[in-house]
Amino acid sequence: MRVSIKKMILLLVCVMLMAAVSAQAEGKKVRVYKGKPAKYVFLFIGDGMGLPQKGATEAFTGEQLVMNTFPAQGMTTTYAADRFITGSAASATSLASGQKTNIGMLGMAPNQKHVKSIAELAKANGKKVGIVSSVSIDHATPAAFYAHVPTRGQYYDIDVALSESDFDFFGGGGLKDVTNKKKNSKNYKGNALDLIKRAGYKVVIDKDEFMALKPSDGKVISWNSWLQDSKALPYAMDMRPQDITLPEFTGKAIEMLDNPDGFFLMVEGGKIDWACHANDAAAFIRNTISFDDSIAKAVAFAKKHPKETVIVVTGDHECGGLTLGFAGTKYASHFNALQPQDVSFQKFSDEVVKLWKEEHGEKAKFEDFKPTITHFFGLEFDGDAKKNPMVVKDYQLAMLKDAYARTMKGEKKFKDPALYNLYGGYDPLTVTITHVLNNNAGLGWTSFKHTGVPVATSAMGVGASSFNGYYDNVDIAYKLMSIMGLSPKIHAKNDKVKVAAK
Ligand SMILES: [Zn+2]
Repeated sequence: MRVSIKKMILLLVCVMLMAAVSAQAEGKKVRVYKGKPAKYVFLFIGDGMGLPQKGATEAFTGEQLVMNTFPAQGMTTTYAADRFITGSAASATSLASGQKTNIGMLGMAPNQKHVKSIAELAKANGKKVGIVSSVSIDHATPAAFYAHVPTRGQYYDIDVALSESDFDFFGGGGLKDVTNKKKNSKNYKGNALDLIKRAGYKVVIDKDEFMALKPSDGKVISWNSWLQDSKALPYAMDMRPQDITLPEFTGKAIEMLDNPDGFFLMVEGGKIDWACHANDAAAFIRNTISFDDSIAKAVAFAKKHPKETVIVVTGDHECGGLTLGFAGTKYASHFNALQPQDVSFQKFSDEVVKLWKEEHGEKAKFEDFKPTITHFFGLEFDGDAKKNPMVVKDYQLAMLKDAYARTMKGEKKFKDPALYNLYGGYDPLTVTITHVLNNNAGLGWTSFKHTGVPVATSAMGVGASSFNGYYDNVDIAYKLMSIMGLSPKIHAKNDKVKVAAK
């Protein structure tokens, strides 16, 4: 039987692919770094931060992001073991442990075998460990570094895992379920905050007390006194002077962790994702700036220890299907249109819309609400919409009026696909305002969920050049572990090819 050259090539490619996959499954593929292990290791994860989010932020500020100045730049695929479009739990598990897993799973393979995170390996190797996030510290991304649960919603079990982690610094958002009020834990051990205190953690909420923390204070868990939504830090644009910012948490973490044996610090910009779910460009841009300011703190540290530090920045997935262009604005961009907005969608719907409804009920007309929209978002209702991006167009006015009526009736969570595509699960008026404003700025949103586009990964310092190129999110864990002189311990094959083809 004659075998054609085409078939032979195909067979050869298949064999090579299989070899690559199985070699990776054993964790042997990545021998990227053979030098002296890095002592100080930073991993920054911008949740929901894809290339469009970074590009929009740079276009808005007119300045290059610190992360984009790094010498090594790569592209990273993000899919989960069982779904092309990933979620934060599966993605964070890949980044933390080098193990592809299923949607919702934390710190384990799809077969539920626990996998060690880079943070746990660093701790066992004598390093100090810090975990910082702008969302609750038991949320999927931070939890993937210290917890092992089949469902990310097991917040009580995650809080208990935090108490048992022996990590040195936790900072940012709060804890979601210290008393197992969700009743999804099978192993209740008592109030998790008590367990955390009993494990020797100092709990700090006051900003002055936080700023005064010294390494001699020992293990610390700290969150901001105002937690805005789901125990998260307020959006950067909503913060008051007495709030602790993500860069402040990062700076303090560095100060607390710095020691001769080195440290591993993970910092998550978690609300870039949340703002993108809600399609609010001004909110995600200001949170991306805050995330980048946190990265600048690590860069300042690296300048003092250039031969011993590595900083890696990545996203866990894109969110919102954002793009830098919109049908209605053709080739034009008006990023300045986002300047006047001075509250996040969250604060606007939680406070302004809520108060309006309470005070005026269903009787108030849209006409009466217009000045409020102008006040908080800068959108105008008079003028030449062809010349001024701040002016609401006729079709947009109709959309706003319709959304306003639904908001005043208390409509939310739309099952009708036509309405879901307009509003997702958000307050109809608020999300329509940000759509109008974002579209006029020349930005398009295609989803209220994550998307499957690859993300960018940046690196500087020890072994950074291995982060050039195109690779999968599990490879970030392998590369970092290799640079730290550690080896990954995973339990199931990372089958990239099959998932991508689904
Ligand atoms: Zn998300």
